Amino acid sequence: MRAQETYVGSQPASLKTCPTCGFISDGQWFCRSCGEFFRAPGTGRHAANLWRRFFAEILDGILFFLLLIVGWFIWFGFFTAKNGQTPGKRILGLRVIQLDGTIPTAGTMWLREVVVKGIVWNLTEPFSYAAYIWAFFDRDRQTIHDKMVDTYVIYHSGDVEDLTAVPLAPGEQYGGVATSAPPAEDIDAALRRLAKLRDDGLITDDEYEEKRRAVVDRL
Ligand SMILES: [Zn+2]
Repeated sequence: MRAQETYVGSQPASLKTCPTCGFISDGQWFCRSCGEFFRAPGTGRHAANLWRRFFAEILDGILFFLLLIVGWFIWFGFFTAKNGQTPGKRILGLRVIQLDGTIPTAGTMWLREVVVKGIVWNLTEPFSYAAYIWAFFDRDRQTIHDKMVDTYVIYHSGDVEDLTAVPLAPGEQYGGVATSAPPAEDIDAALRRLAKLRDDGLITDDEYEEKRRAVVDRL
């Protein structure tokens, strides 16, 4: 069950086997292949495809002018910011979340979308493009502005109320930096967590059985 440790240069990177697709991933919080949220597998939170995020940016740019700027701010300020979205993200089913799996505050959304992206990045073009390009090389698809405000972008078609909090475990902290290797979860705890997911209706009985077998197989 303990994550296998490997070293890339001087940086230790732990490889994890994705519980959903089986891909051996160097993503810290999300599977590099299917995007599964390792902290709460099976709860519909998947790291968003970067091209989808790119189109959401374009869409926001178009809407910004189409709605004469003020319309975009009304849509964002009164409707989407509190749901971890911009109008463009809303249309494309994207949501900004924090490491605990819940959406950030509206204040964080204003900081991320308006202050950093809208003002600072616009004033520092074309150098600021690097903030976006960074995500293509980042193991959890974070942009620089994601790192600044500790956020991740997921594809999530469900309701915002479905994003229940996944409390941070010892060794986990915001910003995607683990102060030490996360403790290997013991089998008991893993099985209890699985049972809870099933009881909460987040995974079906079949999925539960499949994942339970996967846990037991690793004994
Ligand atoms: Zn996966």
